[in-house]
Amino acid sequence: MDLPLIYYGDPVLRAKGATVEAVTPEIEQLIADMLETMKKYRGIGLAAQQVGRKIQLTVIDIRAAENRPSTLELEGEEADPNSIMPIALMNPKITPLNDPVSGPEGCLSFPEIFGDISRPEKIRVQAMGREGESMEFVCGGLLARCVQHETDHLHGILFVDRMDRPTKADIRDDLNALQEKTKAELD
Ligand code: ZN
Repeated sequence: MDLPLIYYGDPVLRAKGATVEAVTPEIEQLIADMLETMKKYRGIGLAAQQVGRKIQLTVIDIRAAENRPSTLELEGEEADPNSIMPIALMNPKITPLNDPVSGPEGCLSFPEIFGDISRPEKIRVQAMGREGESMEFVCGGLLARCVQHETDHLHGILFVDRMDRPTKADIRDDLNALQEKTKAELD
């Protein structure tokens, strides 16, 4: 079942997610519903806050973004990033492995709003996977950008918070309009 999306201006997007202790049947169902929702809206990542849940769970599937390359290393060996898609990450921890690079980002909670954001290009990720297992991998390119964007969501941080001042100035009017629309619908 797909879930209603939460848009910028709703305070739940600013909530810090609680740690997920175990993959219960409820969490399994939420993962399935979030994957369906992400697919419906053609996203490559979706965080629990974006469907109104304050927990550290995100789903990612970068396969739709064919023109933006990703890299993956599993146990020190290069692997095909598509081979592990889609993924669900709980309680992810990120270690940056190189310098930030600038690249374009959007977000399902900010329709039609895009901007360049600077983030480390390569990261190590440690998380709990959908079977409750501990996962560890190194990724680069779009996948690294996506994992960092989604992990931010789990702590109430949004991509607009990481834009530099000129980038944010460019989208200021659109941001204000979206925030007002969301707040009007919440009242
Ligand atoms: Zn987002």
